[in-house]
Amino acid sequence: MQTVAFIGLGNMGGPMAANLIKAGFQVRVFDLVESLVSGLEALGAYAASSVEEAAKNADVVVTMLPAGCHVANLYIGDQSSQPQGEGSQTTGANGLLAKLPAGTLVIDSSTIDAETSRAVHQEAKSRSIQCLDAPVSGGVAAATAGTLSFMCGGSKEAFASARDVLNAMGANIFHAGPDGAGQVAKMCNNMLLAIHMIGSSEALKLGEKNGVDANTLSEIMLASSGKNWSLEKYNPYPGVMENSPASNDYKPGFMVDLMTKDLGLAMDNASSTGSATPLGKLAHELYQEKQSSGDGQRDFSSIIELIESKAKNG
Ligand code: NAD
Repeated sequence: MQTVAFIGLGNMGGPMAANLIKAGFQVRVFDLVESLVSGLEALGAYAASSVEEAAKNADVVVTMLPAGCHVANLYIGDQSSQPQGEGSQTTGANGLLAKLPAGTLVIDSSTIDAETSRAVHQEAKSRSIQCLDAPVSGGVAAATAGTLSFMCGGSKEAFASARDVLNAMGANIFHAGPDGAGQVAKMCNNMLLAIHMIGSSEALKLGEKNGVDANTLSEIMLASSGKNWSLEKYNPYPGVMENSPASNDYKPGFMVDLMTKDLGLAMDNASSTGSATPLGKLAHELYQEKQSSGDGQRDFSSIIELIESKAKNG
């Protein structure tokens, strides 16, 4: 069985690493938070005290980190501390990729901008390391159940090499296209998710103002053309779904902070590619407003509270 180094054991990475252990992989883990490392050690992982120690003798390295800066710093290193200049061979010299043997496979499952992802691919290629960007959809529940969707970007060979590891953590594994294509697919998906979460919230609040019960309205729309994932799996109205964040004081789940980050990635990309995303832009503004009211750590379905406050304030 392959040895997998897993770096970043937060809300998503922790359960994903646990599923690799369950599937029989030798798993070596590292996180900046020690308690997260010992939690995985209790499940059978080797507890490493650094990224480098985790990656030692690993066939595969998986990362699940917050944002692009963390991924670039880890794989390529701190660019500002590297000597610049003509003929310099030191690009990425203090990153993890420089320390891995050729042939290692790295899989980055963090949600980051496609540009940073492509830079990591390029650095990996220059060192004969296989690389896949493989962001996920499904949230903490799917990470725990091992039913995540993976959207992968990279070569067919890297995708084939990653199959067994991804199958242990997910149920739907897609090859979206070349380097960075997984991140593009994820960005498009999350922009749409934000839009239908806001739309579902508006519809439920409009029904409420007209005296129509949210449970009844949800049932009707789920059997009609307004049906969508937010309404079906993640209803934002408290009490409609027993286990939704809405019924648990909007405890995440998927935080407003992360959705705002993802919409920011989509807006940057839309601007650099000349794409029109009017609803994505509005969704970004609404999530920024929710975030700046101090609700960054609440679940993203709590956007329904912003809709409510706008109704009150006129
Ligand atoms: P999180 O903040 O819970 O976990 C990130 C972990 O990375 C933290 O434990 C942090 O200590 C660790 N970390 C940061 N820098 C590190 C380093 N240099 N070395 C080792 N560990 C380091 O975040 P999360 O919710 O697990 O999300 C991770 C990624 O997955 C994000 O990009 C997010 O957008 C994406 N995502 C999250 C969800 C969700 O529902 N939470 C769903 C899909 C995708």
